Amino acid sequence: MKNSMITDYRFLYRLTNHITPQKEDCGLVCGKICCKPDKDNSLGVYLFPGEEILFLKTTQWYTIETHNPKEYDFPEEWTNPVYFIKCKEPCPREERPLACRFFPLTAHLLRDGELIIINEPAELPYKCPLIEEKIPLEEEFIDIIAKVWQILLVNPVIKRLIEFDSINREKSLAGLPEIVWNRYS
Ligand code: SF4
Ligand code: SF4
Repeated sequence: MKNSMITDYRFLYRLTNHITPQKEDCGLVCGKICCKPDKDNSLGVYLFPGEEILFLKTTQWYTIETHNPKEYDFPEEWTNPVYFIKCKEPCPREERPLACRFFPLTAHLLRDGELIIINEPAELPYKCPLIEEKIPLEEEFIDIIAKVWQILLVNPVIKRLIEFDSINREKSLAGLPEIVWNRYS
């Protein structure tokens, strides 16, 4: 399966430019810990397939690495390379990658293919107060993230990744993650 470009990322950026998990800037509580490099400068954000066309320019707030998905946690259908952004300084907000726009939410696919939106349960090198303290998020934020995920999942390469992540997540949690949004919300 080729990591083909069938997703309109500019449209998804426009949909998500204005949304935030909280009315106030949640980074004021934690010191924007999710944006800070660790001591080994190993933290970063993966781009979705095709999203890299918005990043292959000479802006200086990030470095971009190419990774072979076979050497990282991707389904075997993902083709080389995948793009990994490392921030050298705070990004201009309208340029942040989709993965940052979603945080602390992510997508999960149930075994019957139904999409649910959950808090990111992956082991993180920092503690996000929104997740740790289960702070309710803005409804508009949740609804738009859900809408964007429904668009992203039309791309079979992205859907495969989320199926792969969901199966692994259910194994490591030994059950289902807590639902933040489903189609009945
Ligand atoms: S770690 Fe959580 S609370 Fe802090 S800035 Fe990131 S999303 Fe907001
Ligand atoms: S791209 Fe922006 S929002 Fe994302 S981690 Fe870097 S500084 Fe934070």
